[in-house]
Amino acid sequence: MSQFWSESVHQLKPYIPGEQPKVSNLIKLNTNENPYPPSPKALAAIQTATNADLKLYPDPNSDILKQSIANYYDLDTAQVFVGNGSDEVLAHTFQALLKHDKPLLFPDITYSFYPVYCGLYDINYKTIPLDNDFCINIDDYNQENGAIIFPNPNAPTGIGLGLNTIETLLQNNPNSVVVIDEAYIDFGGESAVSLIHQYPNLLVVQTLSKSRALAGLRVGFAMGHPDLIQGLVRVKDSFNSYPLDKLATLGAAAAMDDKTYFTETCQRIITSRDVLYSDMQKLGFDILPSQANFIFATHPHHKAKTIAQSLREQGIIVRHFEATRINMYLRISIGTPQACETLIKALKSILS
Ligand SMILES: *Cc1c(COP(=O)(O)O)cnc(C)c1O
Repeated sequence: MSQFWSESVHQLKPYIPGEQPKVSNLIKLNTNENPYPPSPKALAAIQTATNADLKLYPDPNSDILKQSIANYYDLDTAQVFVGNGSDEVLAHTFQALLKHDKPLLFPDITYSFYPVYCGLYDINYKTIPLDNDFCINIDDYNQENGAIIFPNPNAPTGIGLGLNTIETLLQNNPNSVVVIDEAYIDFGGESAVSLIHQYPNLLVVQTLSKSRALAGLRVGFAMGHPDLIQGLVRVKDSFNSYPLDKLATLGAAAAMDDKTYFTETCQRIITSRDVLYSDMQKLGFDILPSQANFIFATHPHHKAKTIAQSLREQGIIVRHFEATRINMYLRISIGTPQACETLIKALKSILS
């Protein structure tokens, strides 16, 4: 607290990111990072660009990256917006597209940054409870709203909605901006990108942090009708003209272009997820069906918080949220097959 703060700063409730430990000998399954390194082509592009030209400002529009994203999804670059991590893309989206008189709707259990942005931008919002199976029921969104946002698959449940369901939601809400945050879509979900051609109110947000293993580079993007993109550009150019540095732009573009590496590493993670799911089921865990690179699991006889503490003592970090409805669950990121095996061994010893 300080008398020198702006009045609004006193009211903020900032997001609390998962721990990034300073020691490197831990098995880190707490922030849904990719267990595999980024594409070698992305690293090579960054290394090549690390030269005296860094004295120059970068391209303010990151056109090379926009073109790679447009190529990947068969879009026009006017349908693409890029930012410094999808958190920044989301921040601009909340400010540019989601602030209306009628409330913004999102699930009660979801990405915990959404209410933080609402606080930052003073956005009127209403949370819609997930059903008893932790699913989003789109019929619950048939009520007065200024806009709608949720992740698909949802976080931290991992449960995804099909493309038909997203399309029904869009048909039910033609006058609202609908934002689908697809941070985890590449691990088995169906992207809604194909719908942006028919639905000018749809914005799809993605990140290179999870499926492309570039959390440290900070690159995210949004895709939608050029009018939505223009709204985002207005906010971006009123905030920071150069959100992506040159290394991030070129590294991210190379990662988008390297489809082979991307597909192979995603498939490995999906395979590990299915193995971990059945191994943990055998240990008595109840696990939600995940389409993401993490699983959300609870044990009928052991407290999630206690399990998390015991795992930590054995050098494994997972995420536990104190929030109601989910405080008996652990969110565990999918690691390498070896990391999953070490986790299962540790769980066996803790539960016995
Ligand atoms: C990880 C995550 C993000 C943020 O990703 P960055 O691009 O690293 O900022 C956004 N939304 C959801 C649901 C996430 O899990």
